[in-house]
Amino acid sequence: MKKLLQVEDLQVSFKTYGGEVQAVRNVSFDVNKGEIVAIVGESGSGKSVTVQSIMGLIPSPPGKLKGGSIRLEEKELTKLSKKEYRAIRGSQIGMIFQDPMTSLNPTMKVGKQIAEGLIKHQRVSKKQAQERAIELLRLVGIPHPEQRYSQYPHEFSGGMRQRVVIAISLACNPKLLIADEPTTALDVTIQAQILDLMKDLQKKTDTSIILITHDLGVVAETAQRVVVMYGGIVVEAGTVFDIFENPKHPYTWGLLESIPKPDAPEKERLVPIEGAPPDLFSPPKGCPFAARCKYAMEICVEEMPNDFSIGDGHHAKCWLNDPRAPKVEHFVAAG
Ligand code: SF4
Ligand code: MG
Repeated sequence: MKKLLQVEDLQVSFKTYGGEVQAVRNVSFDVNKGEIVAIVGESGSGKSVTVQSIMGLIPSPPGKLKGGSIRLEEKELTKLSKKEYRAIRGSQIGMIFQDPMTSLNPTMKVGKQIAEGLIKHQRVSKKQAQERAIELLRLVGIPHPEQRYSQYPHEFSGGMRQRVVIAISLACNPKLLIADEPTTALDVTIQAQILDLMKDLQKKTDTSIILITHDLGVVAETAQRVVVMYGGIVVEAGTVFDIFENPKHPYTWGLLESIPKPDAPEKERLVPIEGAPPDLFSPPKGCPFAARCKYAMEICVEEMPNDFSIGDGHHAKCWLNDPRAPKVEHFVAAG
C-alpha cells in the first residue's frame, strides 16, 4: 500500500509557568492512501497535539516542535512557512472538529460556506462552486440539497450540521481528513450515522482519514488501523484485529474493558482505568503507565520499555512482551 503520511519521531513541548510540558515524545506512525487510522487515548495522551502538529496548528510560543518529521507524500511539512502551511490546509488536509457550531458561520447560508472554499482554493466560477456544493451536500447525505443550500446553520440539527462541516472539509478534495472527536458532541444514534458516513466517504473518495477518539468502541467499526497513545507516547499500534483480538499492552486492555457493553447490567458496563495520567512536566523515565499498571515490575519504573514487535505492523511498548518477563497469569495468581 502507498504511504500518504509519515510521522517520524515527533517531539512537541509547551512552555508554561510551571515548566516545560513534554506533550508528545518520539511519536511515529504512518497513514496509507485511502485508509482510516484511529488515534486513541485519554485526554492528555498527546493525540490532539499530534494532529495539531500535522496541521501546522501548534501555537508557537508556547508550543515548540522539538524534533522529528512529518511528510505528506514527499513533502516535509515541518519546514513549511505559515503561508505555505495555510495553502496545504485549504487544499490537501481537511479538518473536522468536535463541535460543528464552532466551524460554521451562523450568519452565512451553508451552501455559500461550502462554495466559498471552492472559489478561494480551486478558482472555479460561482456557478460551478454552487453546483459542486449541492453535490457535496448530497454526498454527505443531506436530503433536498438544493433547498438546504440556502438555509442557515441554526435550521439544521446537530448531526446535519456535522454533515455540513464534513462537506466543507471535503470541498477541496483533501488527501487527508483529520477528524478530532467528530462525534463526541452528538448523541449515540447520530454518532453511528456520522461514522458510517465517514467510512462511506473514504470508500467513495479514497481520502485517508485520521480519526481521533478517546473511545475504542467507535474504532472497531470504522478504522483499519489503530494507534494507542498514553502519556505522550505511542504505547501500541496495529490493525483493528491486532488491537481487539491480540492486544499486548495493559493500557490497551484497560481501554477495551472500558468500552460500554450495551447488554451488560448497568454496574458492569464500564470498568474505568483507575488513577491519573503521568505528569508531563517531568515524565517518568520508565513506562508512563507504571503508576497505574497492575503488572508493573521493577524494570518498568527504571527503563522506558522497548517497542516490541508482535507481528507485521503490530508493536507494543511494554516489558511484558520481553521473552524474559513473567507470564501475565503469574500476576493474577500473585493477586
Ligand atoms: Fe505495565 Fe510495565 Fe508494561 Fe508499563 S511496561 S504497561 S508498567 S507491565
Ligand atoms: Mg483533544
